[in-house]
Amino acid sequence: MHVVIIGGGAAGIAAAHTILGSSKSHKVTLFESRGTYGGRALTDDTSISGFAFDKGCQYIQDEKHNPWTAIAKELGFDTFPEKVDDVLRREEEDGKFVDEKTTAEPVKEVSDAIEASYEEARKQPNVIVARKPRLDTQAEMFGHAVSEFGPFTESAEVYQYIAADRARVVSYEGDGNAFVTRGLGTLVRAYGLELKKRFGDRITEYFQTPVGIVRYTGSGVTVVSRSGGKTVAADAVIITVPTSVLASGAIAFDPPLSKEYRSVFNILRLGSYKKLALKCNRIPDELEVDTNYYLIETEPEGVWKYYRLSKTPDVLVVHAAGDFAMALDGMADKDVFALFKKTLQEAYEGLIAYAPGKAITNWSRDPDALGAYSYTAMVGGGPSDPTALNARIQLKKPVSGTVHFTGEAASLGFYGTLSGAYDEGVATARAVLGVSG
Ligand SMILES: Cc1cc2nc3c(=O)[nH]c(=O)nc-3n(C[C@H](O)[C@H](O)[C@H](O)COP(=O)(O)OP(=O)(O)OC[C@H]3O[C@@H](n4cnc5c(N)ncnc54)[C@H](O)[C@@H]3O)c2cc1C
Repeated sequence: MHVVIIGGGAAGIAAAHTILGSSKSHKVTLFESRGTYGGRALTDDTSISGFAFDKGCQYIQDEKHNPWTAIAKELGFDTFPEKVDDVLRREEEDGKFVDEKTTAEPVKEVSDAIEASYEEARKQPNVIVARKPRLDTQAEMFGHAVSEFGPFTESAEVYQYIAADRARVVSYEGDGNAFVTRGLGTLVRAYGLELKKRFGDRITEYFQTPVGIVRYTGSGVTVVSRSGGKTVAADAVIITVPTSVLASGAIAFDPPLSKEYRSVFNILRLGSYKKLALKCNRIPDELEVDTNYYLIETEPEGVWKYYRLSKTPDVLVVHAAGDFAMALDGMADKDVFALFKKTLQEAYEGLIAYAPGKAITNWSRDPDALGAYSYTAMVGGGPSDPTALNARIQLKKPVSGTVHFTGEAASLGFYGTLSGAYDEGVATARAVLGVSG
């Protein structure tokens, strides 16, 4: 069997390993827009010397249950656990800043209320639940930021989650996140590069070759690069490109897809998640290592999360999520750096000095991603919209038996994650091969 795979991120790599590993008679042709493997798993190890900055995914979540833990071990990559201690730096009425554990009341009251709303929602697992932050008090903003379902741990949208998320977290109680020392993006890329080493001529890789057209019938497909320079006929195609890219019409289908698919691409949108890394040569001791700090921004409104790891204490890593990240993605990079530095400087009374070396992401403007990771848009339905999980189920249904969509957005329990992308890549490859189980 000859299968074309579009996209060399986690899902495409996992699908290729599965197909090529299952029989010596199978062949894969892989098209990838970027110059190498990884997709939204992308490590930048050049902007700041000695620091592997994961611009996309950075945590192996639920380490003991995550397929990437075994892959890291197999390929000789070291991992180390995330130590979580959450501290908010809160401004008092007199303008002074105080540090407070985020378990302090009244922040805890807000995050407990969020938890309670999810418990309630679990009774109807196919339903979007929403508890929109009022964002009018520091406690409300921090409560959402540090909640297990807050913007930093779950969806790329600030307040839209579905009840299934609740189920997936409780099933893995106590299992923490792990970092990859050389970067999670480096690991995913290395696993992609293994394909050629292991399977030789049975895989053809076309990098910097975006696909423009997929032609299909019930018995086969023809995939054409955007430039028209490459045309490949095969038995089936596995498409792993982000749903936001599919919604943009970057790939044309002949015959056109039915409206069910087009509507699914619009429901499964990619939200925003922003990261900055700054090399510093002076950081105050009160900003302890291995601790997540939070600070409120007022214009645009949102919450910064920032930390430094004990392994690289002179690098400050900064995250922003949801609507706040979207607003930051709309600004020039230099203005985002300036805004963060100003807010931080006020909170630490001028004690931070920066050294050369910085990096910033903008996933919303990356044409091969158009966002960070998928969430379920509330189209037309509101909090009890029954289409929440249905959109992901519909995405997985093959078209004419030869066109298969997969990737993180196809996962029902682990969408928005690297493990979800891997599992869906494997499952779709097995479905294409007709292997059950
Ligand atoms: C900022 C950020 C933080 C994250 N944090 C975490 C985390 O800590 N832990 C976690 O588990 N997950 C995290 N994620 C999510 C995780 O990175 C993704 O779920 C996962 O990488 C998606 O893999 P994928 O294969 O489904 O898609 P992708 O990695 O997006 O792969 C799709 C590929 O298709 C390519 N492509 C697009 N258009 C075309 C075209 N026309 N022709 C050919 N190729 C094309 C793209 O270049 C890309 O390589 C994060 C993501 C982001 C962006």
